[in-house]
Amino acid sequence: MTHADPRPALTLPDAQTVTEVRHWTDRLFSFRTTRPPSLRFRSGEFVMIGLLKEDGRPLLRAYSIASPSWDDELEFYSIKVQDGPLTSRLQHIQPGDQIILRPKPVGTLVHDALLPGKRLWLFATGTGIAPFASLLRDPETFETYDRVILTHTCREVAELAYGRELIDHLRSDNMMQELLGDLSGKLSYYPTTTREESAKIGRITDLLKDGTLFADLGVADFGPETDRAMVCGSLGLNTDLKAILESHGLREGANSEPGEYVVEKAFVG
Ligand SMILES: Cc1cc2nc3c(=O)[nH]c(=O)nc-3n(C[C@H](O)[C@H](O)[C@H](O)COP(=O)(O)OP(=O)(O)OC[C@H]3O[C@@H](n4cnc5c(N)ncnc54)[C@H](O)[C@@H]3O)c2cc1C
Repeated sequence: MTHADPRPALTLPDAQTVTEVRHWTDRLFSFRTTRPPSLRFRSGEFVMIGLLKEDGRPLLRAYSIASPSWDDELEFYSIKVQDGPLTSRLQHIQPGDQIILRPKPVGTLVHDALLPGKRLWLFATGTGIAPFASLLRDPETFETYDRVILTHTCREVAELAYGRELIDHLRSDNMMQELLGDLSGKLSYYPTTTREESAKIGRITDLLKDGTLFADLGVADFGPETDRAMVCGSLGLNTDLKAILESHGLREGANSEPGEYVVEKAFVG
């Protein structure tokens, strides 16, 4: 007599199994899933993920992969939109559940889309930190640049927790230290809030325009020879930051034609 396989059968198309879920606030959660063995991606890219609708058809949305390309599992960092078609349901996933993952990674927030430079600025708002969580955990980022600066702006302090833990982990991570040495002089973290009191209040665009960001970090203004930037936020933030970067002589890059900065929407709407 044969025993039944205790593992749940994979029935969804492109199904992956959820291995861990963490709720950060009532609006934010992160989760990890198994990774298709054949999936290759560049740190910073996004894929389509989702769940099956009641009619049996897939409901998919774009999601940045927050884990680095070397990781055995995939990590995602997600908003919870209470009436959102996907995230009203996705926020309830548990370890052992399945999600759909289309294994076709794409995106412009990748090293290939930037020309060589010395300093890399990563500008994120809200869940826009997800692609940078991938890039920051990829040793290539620190091998490529002398200095990496992550700015993360959220409404409230609690919404910064995912990024803060990521940075704390990077600074104490043995593998990164063995590969790259002490990151303290190379990695700067600049969190700001817009609606709640914190160590640094303000929109990143305002802090850039009045020079506060440069003064706080003790670094020189942007220059097209040294500085490279990646931007991931709302449409409004992306538009404003593009204008600031262009005014400093940086030009937008793409996979087909690398430049001095790249931009991707953190969400549509
Ligand atoms: C290239 C790309 C990458 C993306 N990566 C991520 C990611 O890593 N994590 C993530 O949570 N979302 C990401 N999104 C947004 C994601 O695709 C969905 O919009 C989100 O999961 C909500 O899905 P929904 O069906 O519940 O609601 P939707 O109908 O998709 O959205 C409803 C409304 O909620 C708001 N909204 C949607 N997503 C966000 C968000 N992330 N932050 C703030 N407000 C939002 C918008 O106003 C939108 O109109 C990405 C979008 C794009 C285009």
